[in-house]
Amino acid sequence: MIRLAQPAIDAPDIEAVATVLRSGWLVQAEQVRAFEQELASLGGVPHAVAVSSGTAALHLAVLALGLRPGDEVAIAAFSWPATANVAVMAGLVPRFVDIGGTGMAMDPPSFEALTTRHKIKAVLPVHPLGNTADMPAIVRIAAARGIPVIEDAACAIGTSLDGRASGSWGLAGCLSFHPRKVITTGEGGAILTAVPDLARRLRALRNHGLDPETITPAFITTGLNYRMTDFQAALGRSQLARLPELLEARRIVARWYAEDLDRVPVERPSPATPERHNYQSYVVLLPREVAPHRARLLDALREAGVEAAIGTHHIPLTAYYRKTYGYQPGDFPMTDEIASRAVALPMHHAIRRQDTRTVAAALAHLLRTIP
Ligand SMILES: *Cc1c(COP(=O)(O)O)cnc(C)c1O
Repeated sequence: MIRLAQPAIDAPDIEAVATVLRSGWLVQAEQVRAFEQELASLGGVPHAVAVSSGTAALHLAVLALGLRPGDEVAIAAFSWPATANVAVMAGLVPRFVDIGGTGMAMDPPSFEALTTRHKIKAVLPVHPLGNTADMPAIVRIAAARGIPVIEDAACAIGTSLDGRASGSWGLAGCLSFHPRKVITTGEGGAILTAVPDLARRLRALRNHGLDPETITPAFITTGLNYRMTDFQAALGRSQLARLPELLEARRIVARWYAEDLDRVPVERPSPATPERHNYQSYVVLLPREVAPHRARLLDALREAGVEAAIGTHHIPLTAYYRKTYGYQPGDFPMTDEIASRAVALPMHHAIRRQDTRTVAAALAHLLRTIP
C-alpha cells in the first residue's frame, strides 16, 4: 500500500527523545524553551509558546482575546473542525466565510462582506492543507476594522508569502505537530506572536493560570494544562533541524505528480510561488461529473494499493454545525464544490519516483471507468 501520510522519524529523533527520558526531567525543563526559541526564529517573531496540540494552540489564542460569550468570529468554512470548535467551546458564535476557489482558502471579499452584516470580533483564516491563504488581503481588511487575526497555520510550517512566514501575519499564529503534518511531536502545537503581553497570557493560560514571570506562584488567571512535554520538544527540535530537507522532499514529490498527472483530467495544486505550499497534503480536484462517485473512487484506489482520502472538511455541513446553525448546501457555494471534488493523494518524504507513477496510472484508469 502506498500510504497517504507517514511521519519522518529517524534515529536522531529517537535518540533525542530517549535522552530526555533517561534524564528524568520530563516536563518544564530546557527542551521546551529551546524549541520555542527555534520556532520563533523560524516564524520571524519574538515569541512562540509550545502547547499540547494544534487545537490547544487555537483554543488558547481564542481565549486570550478575552471576548464575551455570544461575540461573533469569522472562520474559514473549509478546514479541520477544530478551527471552529475552539470558538464554540469559548462561547463564541461562528460565522463561516466561503473559500475563494482552487486555492481553497478564505475568500477576502466574502470576509469583507461578512463584516458589513455582522459585528465580527476576530477572524480565523486557515492555510488549507499546506497552501498559504491570502494573508495580505485578510490582514488589510481586518486592520481597517480593528479585527484581530488568528491564523490557523496548523498545516503551514515552512511556508511564506512575500517573505513573511505563515503564522506571523496575525496577532497570533497556531501551528500543529500532529503526525499528519510536515514535522511532528506526536501530539503538539505552538502559538507564534509578536506581542509580549499576549505571550505572557498564553503561557499563563497553558499552565493553570500561573504567571510565567514571577518566582513565587501567582495565579493571575484561570487556566488549563496544555503544556508540551520535554521529550516532545526534543523530538520537535530534532525534526525542525530537518525541516528544509523534509520540505524539499515533498516539493520534489509534487514535481513528480505534476509530470505524471499531466494527462490525467484532475486539477493539481498550483501555488503562485514554491514557498507558498509545503504539500502537507497533495490535493487534486476531480472533474465535476466524477465528484458524486468520489467514495467509490477512493475505495477503488485502495484496492489498487493507493491510500487516498478526502481533502478536508466542509465545517458548516458537518452534523453538529448543520444541526445547530441550520446550514444548507448552497450557503457556501465554493466550499460545496471544492469539498465534493477534493482528493488527497499519498504525500510524504518517503514517496518514491515509482509511487507517483503508480498513483497517476491508477487514477487515470479509474477516471476512464467511473462512473
Ligand atoms: C491538524 C489541524 C488542526 C488541529 O491540530 P491538532 O494538533 O491535531 O490538534 C487544526 N486546524 C487545522 C487546519 C489542521 O489541519
